[in-house]
Amino acid sequence: MPNILIAEDEPRIASFIEKGLRSQGFTTTTVTDGLHVLDIAQNGIFDLLILDLGLPGKDGFQVLEELRGQGEDLPVIILSARSDIHDKVAGLEGGADDYVTKPFRFEELLARVRLRLRSARPVRDAQEFLLKAGNVVLNLRTRQVKLGDRLIELPAREFTMAEMFCRHPGQVISREQLLDYVWGYDYNPGSNIVDVYIGYLRKKLGSNLIETVRGIGYRLRS
Ligand code: CA
Repeated sequence: MPNILIAEDEPRIASFIEKGLRSQGFTTTTVTDGLHVLDIAQNGIFDLLILDLGLPGKDGFQVLEELRGQGEDLPVIILSARSDIHDKVAGLEGGADDYVTKPFRFEELLARVRLRLRSARPVRDAQEFLLKAGNVVLNLRTRQVKLGDRLIELPAREFTMAEMFCRHPGQVISREQLLDYVWGYDYNPGSNIVDVYIGYLRKKLGSNLIETVRGIGYRLRS
């Protein structure tokens, strides 16, 4: 499983990224200080670095410059509250592979992480992109969904929700986990949006596929 290094000093954002990536099966390590990123990033066990620009000790630009200066080609995705185009250009010219501006939705970051991991390792077996649960098959690369032999259209959030279930068949997933994962931190915890989307998935993938576990959440029947 890919091993991701997160350099982020804001605990809320760090834990949001950690939780999201771990729920996708990634392994994560978080550093909160720019001074320590370099040493850790170069120990050879990481597949990608998510690098906040505004870090204490040493900022992200400096970290990136030193990293590339030492010939380290670890894929780097810059994370920053600065939406300024100059920072974006500077980051990419400094050797970053991609750039995500805060606030961002987790699915956006995830898509970029996957993309960078893939371009870092071009030879992959097509089977690796398929996620199967019962008679549902999700293709993570083409975002196509098959129910038996039938091809089903799922918009982005429904796909992401289906992906979460398929990755954890038989496991109860709470509303909060689904909100966090599919909508990011930009949500109102009192909203019934999760239930609404469960309804969409049941309509498209069959009413028996996702079971309600009263008072706790939902579970994919496996
Ligand atoms: Ca910061």
